[in-house]
Amino acid sequence: MSEPLLLGKNAVKREILDYLICPECLPEENSLRLGNFRCLDGEIIEGRLECGCCGKAYLISEGIACFEKGKSKKPRSIGPQPSDLRSPTSVYESPEVLSAYLWTHYADLFGDPDVTQAYSEWAGQIAPVSGAALDTGCATGRFSFEMSAKCDLVIGVDASMSFVSTARRIMRERKLAFRIREEGLIHTEKSFSLRPEWDSAKVEFVVADAEALPFRSGSFACVASLNLIDKTPRPLEHIKEACRAARAGNAQLLISDPFSWSEQVCESEKWLGGTPYGRFAGAGIDNVARLLSEEDQRAGPAWRVTRRGAVWWKIRNHRNHFELIRSLFLKAER
Ligand SMILES: [Zn+2]
Repeated sequence: MSEPLLLGKNAVKREILDYLICPECLPEENSLRLGNFRCLDGEIIEGRLECGCCGKAYLISEGIACFEKGKSKKPRSIGPQPSDLRSPTSVYESPEVLSAYLWTHYADLFGDPDVTQAYSEWAGQIAPVSGAALDTGCATGRFSFEMSAKCDLVIGVDASMSFVSTARRIMRERKLAFRIREEGLIHTEKSFSLRPEWDSAKVEFVVADAEALPFRSGSFACVASLNLIDKTPRPLEHIKEACRAARAGNAQLLISDPFSWSEQVCESEKWLGGTPYGRFAGAGIDNVARLLSEEDQRAGPAWRVTRRGAVWWKIRNHRNHFELIRSLFLKAER
């Protein structure tokens, strides 16, 4: 199975070019022109995606396209991280956090009894649909691979270069071996393979900002934001961007979050819940549902929330230390 998939992967890389716009120019949607590129086996390995309007160039390096808006290099990636791994800078680029996310995403594939079934449960909310899916805050890619069994093309985006390069490696090789911490300095190696029904030829991963997505409006049949809202410094912008990227009709949206608001990530004035006063007083999940029910110039037509629920999601720090997180979700359609 791996050979045709590897051949197909090369087509995907070019296919995403049709979706791309300059994030710096938003809300204007200006095309990007591919220049100075070098291909290997049909895949663009190096190149520049240039905006003819603002002049900004986004680099493709070692097959990874990077669309960060450029001012801030602070990583803004998904989900809660193990508390004793937190550091002021680049937490999502550290090997320990990468290992923790790989465990969370893939430990069921090597039979670890401690992991939850969060990704299968989230994927179960999405009906198969023709068209492309967008996985914002994809981390090491599990939900993107799940979506490859339901959609024609999946683009995963994350602000972490470490996550995206690892997700692309899994996409290419369909397997990975990595180390997890057992206790102190003792580690063991774990390995997994992607499920046969996950078509990695349909999946691509890029580095981008979830609050300024480099995609044309109305591009995606399905958009997901899993454990990202409380990890972004501008959650309202992120939700509007996720909605903008989705089609105006026949579209599905899955938003899930534990709403662990933190001043370290986002000023409390910008939280979408968790405060007793202001526009977003009360519970984040209710405020997100209300936002989705309103038409918005940028976000597009209103959504109909069709399901609400919760998924247990777990992060592993070491053999005897886990964090258990309840992620509240909304499934919406329009
Ligand atoms: Zn531009």
